[in-house]
Amino acid sequence: MIDICVNWFKAPFDKDREDILSRAQDAGITHIFSTGSTVENSQQSAEIAKLRPELFSATAGIHPHYASSWNKNSQDAIEQLLQLDVVRALGECGLDFNRNFSSPEEQIFAFEQQIELAIKYQKPLFMHQRDAHDSFIKIIKEKRKDFTKGVVHCFTGTEEELDDYLELDLHIGLTGWICDERRGFHMHDFIPKIPLSRLMIETDAPYLSPRTMKPRIHRNEPAFLVHLVQQLADIYGCSFAEVAKQTEQTTKPFYNLD
Ligand SMILES: [Zn+2]
Repeated sequence: MIDICVNWFKAPFDKDREDILSRAQDAGITHIFSTGSTVENSQQSAEIAKLRPELFSATAGIHPHYASSWNKNSQDAIEQLLQLDVVRALGECGLDFNRNFSSPEEQIFAFEQQIELAIKYQKPLFMHQRDAHDSFIKIIKEKRKDFTKGVVHCFTGTEEELDDYLELDLHIGLTGWICDERRGFHMHDFIPKIPLSRLMIETDAPYLSPRTMKPRIHRNEPAFLVHLVQQLADIYGCSFAEVAKQTEQTTKPFYNLD
């Protein structure tokens, strides 16, 4: 199983990364994407992917929360990283109007600039969208013929939003959000619309611990991806092994991963 989104350099992991890694391997996680959300952790992600390429890949990008930091320097830094093979996607990038840590204008500007970089370096887009669907779709529609591949990660939206993404030939990333009876169960009815050939799995650790875990855990980690896979197996009506195998078969060619 491949976890396509781990915030590996966030502080909650500072004390025990090697233990987390061995638990992940024991649980059957074969590869981890260390996700970039700032210049600094994009660089750190590239470093670990260079050091341990069999276990880690990296993405490089500026999360919409930090879009106000986008400038010529950050653009140069991200461009340098995109030239490395182990940096397999541009992201996180996108729009998050839920909390607007950066203004919508700053977010749109940084997103559009990053899409141009993905096009220039022919890398897939790893995208984040929250409470910004209309603006997001408008931007993607304009650029869809120019970029190669894109995944909307941690999808938490409506059936109509899902239809829009599938129509634009985007991939979908699902997290433990769908294991949350308070806010994710409504998605179970339409998740099977996502062909397994377009579906990828992610923990978004240390965030979004699966609430199907008993007892409840507050810090998520890659080993807990198995709870998402079990939830998906229940939703699709197939085996755990089938979800694990098919999502891996989807993930490898998407990221040019052997
Ligand atoms: Zn995100």
